[in-house]
Amino acid sequence: MNRVQVLRTDDLPPCPRCDRPALLVARMPLGDGVDLYLCRHCDTGPTAGGRLIAILGLPDGERPLDLLHEFTAAWMHEGLAAQGWRYIPHEDSPN
Ligand SMILES: [Zn+2]
Repeated sequence: MNRVQVLRTDDLPPCPRCDRPALLVARMPLGDGVDLYLCRHCDTGPTAGGRLIAILGLPDGERPLDLLHEFTAAWMHEGLAAQGWRYIPHEDSPN
């Protein structure tokens, strides 16, 4: 496993923070595998997850792709940091 898998189905495992249905799960290729849960109950307000949920709620075709990518990356970095991981960009990365 060397890529991020995004799971978005009707039978995702529940959010480990609140035990309610998750919106999506990102399975990160780190260590033994790290799962990040996006949850409409836990990821609220001005957090990266809250901003991602807001943009995912826009109709198809009305989501600004640049913001979708930015908020997805910010949510992943936030979720990884909460689990003790730190994102370090490559020196030749544009970000
Ligand atoms: Zn939750």
